[in-house]
Amino acid sequence: MKLTIKFQREGTRAKPVYADYEVDIPEETTVYDALVSIRETQDGTMAFRGNCGVGFCGDCTVSINGGQKPSCLVTVGNVQKENVITIQPVRYAPVTKHVMYDADKFIWDKLTPFARGLVPNGDRPVSDKELEPVRKAMRCTTCGLCDEGCSVIDVNLDFYGPAALMKLYRFAFDPRDSITAERLTQGSETNGIWDCVHCWEATEHCPFGLEPTHRIMETRDHGVSYGVRSGHGNKSAERHYDSFARSVERSGWLDERAVALASYGGLVKGGIKLLPMALKALKRGKATLKPHHKRPGAGEIKKIFERYRRSTADRRKES
Ligand code: SF4
Repeated sequence: MKLTIKFQREGTRAKPVYADYEVDIPEETTVYDALVSIRETQDGTMAFRGNCGVGFCGDCTVSINGGQKPSCLVTVGNVQKENVITIQPVRYAPVTKHVMYDADKFIWDKLTPFARGLVPNGDRPVSDKELEPVRKAMRCTTCGLCDEGCSVIDVNLDFYGPAALMKLYRFAFDPRDSITAERLTQGSETNGIWDCVHCWEATEHCPFGLEPTHRIMETRDHGVSYGVRSGHGNKSAERHYDSFARSVERSGWLDERAVALASYGGLVKGGIKLLPMALKALKRGKATLKPHHKRPGAGEIKKIFERYRRSTADRRKES
């Protein structure tokens, strides 16, 4: 199959400068192998990342015809468009040369805080069932494609991102570990699990079906079951969580004004912070000054909360 590989050597993603390489290779050749062959036969200066070549390490993630993919997992025949394949760097990774990115800044610096090894809690035998979440998370190749799709990283590069939070999940769900609450508290700091907006893009982007957004949601639930609703320096997540539950317990539905005020630190602090937005919302008819009322059946909802509290207290006593 005759192809032109357009390879970005200079410029930015928006204004790329390409070098074109002509190749004649079988259509089942992977894009990664195609790049390696060009580097070996045409241009030894080409810079791109890659390691295992079999979809295990995630290192060769690159933008191919505008979509981010591990280049060793796609064949030239499948991705070419009119016999052209365009290679660019991934979106959020700082580029060091051509399409080679700084892997530390892209992924490892964020992931390392959650990668503290297992701190064993004894030698109790664990079942296959208990290890299912761990095994699932260990299939993560740290390719970073979930981060590429993340709509929070889009506006906040400091957000840990789903790839790093997958590492948190891996250890937080390990039944052999003894510092689960500590890990969950660390993951609940600012830019951690509570900053995910569950847009599900990470789940859409993971090429291995690991559903990273689902894993973040499960880690939150896991935190709550451990009594961890925020990090030491991130009390707004806890306030939001508690006021949300309080509102539903009290009235049977959500009092958005009360939750917003509580999340920002109460009537005075929250009021000052939210006043401009509240005035705008009132003007546009998106908010009302009418008092929040109880819904019919609110008493039944309150009973659900009471039952939940009793059952969690029982579970804690048992464990
Ligand atoms: S969760 Fe999926 S997309 Fe994200 S780094 Fe791991 S393998 Fe890649």
